[in-house]
Amino acid sequence: MSEFKKPQPSPTAWTQSFWQHCAKDRLMLLRCTSCGAHHVPTRRVCACGSSHFDSVESKGSGVIISFTEVHRAPDPAFKEELPYVIAIIELQEGARLMSNIIQSEVSDIGIGKTVQCVFETLEETVGVPKFKLLKE
Ligand SMILES: [Zn+2]
Repeated sequence: MSEFKKPQPSPTAWTQSFWQHCAKDRLMLLRCTSCGAHHVPTRRVCACGSSHFDSVESKGSGVIISFTEVHRAPDPAFKEELPYVIAIIELQEGARLMSNIIQSEVSDIGIGKTVQCVFETLEETVGVPKFKLLKE
């Protein structure tokens, strides 16, 4: 066990439901009621200008848009995980988010590869969506 503690999500009134659902293995997105675009809940205004959203569950699958392999920890709390991969994932619904690719061979990770969401539960009310490569 590391003596350093990794930073945790800090739910706000706007994002609390998102983190709670992640703790129950559910990835929830906002769907714009005006144009239908999907977003992760850090967004409060859609590109179309609307700020009215429904909450919908994502299928949790997507593709890697970009990624980097981290070899030097930005914080001592991440040293044990080196090397690790940070990626931008475009979900099947069109929303994009940044996360880690885990449970995967780093040499197999690439742009355009298909990934599936896997959840890391930190507390009863806070989970974090991470992704693993799907076998092709
Ligand atoms: Zn919209």
